[in-house]
Amino acid sequence: MRVVLKFVAVGALLLSCSDSGRSVASTTSAGLDSHTSNALETGKSEVGSLSTKPLKVEPPEAPTTTLSVAASSSSNPTQTTAANVAKQFALCASIDEPTSSDQEPPAGSLTRRCRTSSGKATFYFVAYPGTEPHLFEDVVVSVFAAAELFPLPDNAFSGIADVLVAVWHRFRSEHHEIAEHRCAYRASESPWCIEDLQEPMISQGIGMSMLSRNPAMFEIVWPTQNLHIDSDVSHWLLAAHEWVHIYGLAHTANTDGSVEGPAVVPLDGPIWLREGLADYVAALIADYAGEADFLSTYSDWVVQTHTEFGASIDVLPAEVLAYCTTPASQVWAEEMGGAWQCPAGRVAVLQLLHLAGQDPLELITGYFQQVAEAGWEDAFRLVFGRLPGVFYEEFGEFLLRPLDQKKVLVIKPSFDGS
Ligand SMILES: [Zn+2]
Repeated sequence: MRVVLKFVAVGALLLSCSDSGRSVASTTSAGLDSHTSNALETGKSEVGSLSTKPLKVEPPEAPTTTLSVAASSSSNPTQTTAANVAKQFALCASIDEPTSSDQEPPAGSLTRRCRTSSGKATFYFVAYPGTEPHLFEDVVVSVFAAAELFPLPDNAFSGIADVLVAVWHRFRSEHHEIAEHRCAYRASESPWCIEDLQEPMISQGIGMSMLSRNPAMFEIVWPTQNLHIDSDVSHWLLAAHEWVHIYGLAHTANTDGSVEGPAVVPLDGPIWLREGLADYVAALIADYAGEADFLSTYSDWVVQTHTEFGASIDVLPAEVLAYCTTPASQVWAEEMGGAWQCPAGRVAVLQLLHLAGQDPLELITGYFQQVAEAGWEDAFRLVFGRLPGVFYEEFGEFLLRPLDQKKVLVIKPSFDGS
């Protein structure tokens, strides 16, 4: 959940959200802001964990803002998980189109190049030498499933989003040759590109960045060890979280990005909101397609925010979200010991969706649609029915409530049309 504020020479802002899915059950509050670079591979292996829930992914019937899963309720729940994963992997079928760069990945890399059924996103998955193949398969299936379940709307931006998903092993992979390939992919002319990308690779977490607005180009970085680095958090949650960021940012692809910077609210909304929405949708996708239970995941998050708010001092409740609107304010909050304040955004999203009172997923897709048309502030007011500042007050009052009154808002919305 931390934003790494490193403006590398290639101009990409990396959103590193690798521990956003942590639950209070699996980490201490200190773990919230400790980066996953220190994560030990002591957690359970996630090999075979796909078997807890069937994949029900089907291609969307039409590329609209309507969630494609609403059209997939007829999917057969009796299908075996293995068959569904295989089907999902097959859905991400190789396509012949060349990548934007001619440079081949290092010898021994595993690659998959595929397009979503809506045709709005093209993936280039690369596992650099040293990566465990089954971890690569996890990444392909979960990222691609998220993109199918929460597809980019046809009218959100012109063009097709191109997404490089770079998967490597922190200690076994050759970081220099990976950085070289990543720089070639982004056609960077910066003499510092390789150095800038290579330097954080030994310790950075899972994250994404928008490489280019027009054409819309994204990168997801996915460091691994012998297991996933966040072995206590479902990779389904992490994959879907990063995808929802791409979903949101893609709606800004046709807007002028020159106003962006660490001290301004991002085009797709304040940090607490973009992170909170990513967590909300990710928890749904991971519940639907993966092995993470939405209700228990969210209950843990509510308890965590409740506990950490209760333990905080000198924090005005109405200012909690206001401290997490820009990338710089997020860094500041973390440095000042307020690392819980940005993750509180996912609890705020719960309240916001409750107050707005309609179908949560319609609200979320409607918000991003309005972001594309009117910018985030108007989108917020139009879709959620209040000004951000008014909501900050409302959330401040909510924070003061007893835990049981908070937990009643943890309701799983329909995600499969049933
Ligand atoms: Zn994030």
